[in-house]
Amino acid sequence: MLDSYCKVLNKNRFKVTRQRKAILEAMEKAHGVHLTADDIYMDVKQNFPEIGISTVYRTLELLARLNIVHKTSFDEGKFRYEFCEDEGHYHHHFVCNGCGSIIEVEEDFLHHLESALEERGFIITDHKVQLYGYCPECRDRHTE
Ligand SMILES: [Zn+2]
Ligand SMILES: [Zn+2]
Ligand SMILES: [Zn+2]
Repeated sequence: MLDSYCKVLNKNRFKVTRQRKAILEAMEKAHGVHLTADDIYMDVKQNFPEIGISTVYRTLELLARLNIVHKTSFDEGKFRYEFCEDEGHYHHHFVCNGCGSIIEVEEDFLHHLESALEERGFIITDHKVQLYGYCPECRDRHTE
């Protein structure tokens, strides 16, 4: 996994520096979690105390540009990062208003909507969906 990301960097003439590698490793370790730049910074800093938060931001921007990571805003005023998926289309997210957990939603019914629009002559390149509500653990506390 990590190797293929390093190859993408090399192919685009970016060096796989120790810090870039450490950032990729921190993200791989937290697989399935949607990390903020701060989370990644706190992790990488343990082995690279000299790293600055701006290096983390710049690296994440670079990784996003190379389609290695995907960044999403969950209306918290900051981005969260995760690795891109191979299949191309990005999954959707459910955000719990109770505990704040971010859950990946694999179901996707929007392709029907896309084809309906395409029949009318539109070209749809992508879509984004974020669902909000209460997860099964929180629902009882928030619904009567
Ligand atoms: Zn919850
Ligand atoms: Zn996700
Ligand atoms: Zn979708």
